[in-house]
Amino acid sequence: MTGCTFGIGQGYCASRRTKSFADELAQLTEAWRQVVRRTRNYMDVAIEMAKTAASLGEVPVGAVIVAADGRIAARAHNRVRTLKDPTAHAEMLAIREACRASSSERLVEHSIYVTLEPCAMCASAISQARLKRLYFAAHDPKSGAVEHGPRVFAHSQCHFRPEVYGGIGEREAAAILRAFFVARR
Ligand SMILES: [Zn+2]
Repeated sequence: MTGCTFGIGQGYCASRRTKSFADELAQLTEAWRQVVRRTRNYMDVAIEMAKTAASLGEVPVGAVIVAADGRIAARAHNRVRTLKDPTAHAEMLAIREACRASSSERLVEHSIYVTLEPCAMCASAISQARLKRLYFAAHDPKSGAVEHGPRVFAHSQCHFRPEVYGGIGEREAAAILRAFFVARR
């Protein structure tokens, strides 16, 4: 064993313990960095989906659903105009695809990454699907229903609340939305 100056055994050696604590802290910091990097990578996939939506004349919102093992179970973008379907928001399409892929109506170990704060319909669907975590990029004071308006997950009739992390990649996602609406004016 290295680092022990007292030779009284690993569990009771002060210098060893200090070193272990520093190592542990470094490991935790690295693990946290990896979580942040991974989260950002998934959001980047959602942002790419949003860009595809914009190129098709759809409101640029993208969504990605990730399974517990890190595999992407579904990715989708808004297709309201293409499908002539007012419910074809990115989240709804991604939830349907992930449920189909996992042959289940619930996604209890899955996470969803969306480029815009979900609306009331999508927030409700996220709750119904029992998605474990919601990561979203841009806040939406106009139609968002997580931190604005009806605040679906805080409602007493909401029986399942995912963990929510907002503002990841917000600047980029908001810029894509702004550019889209400016071009349409
Ligand atoms: Zn929606």
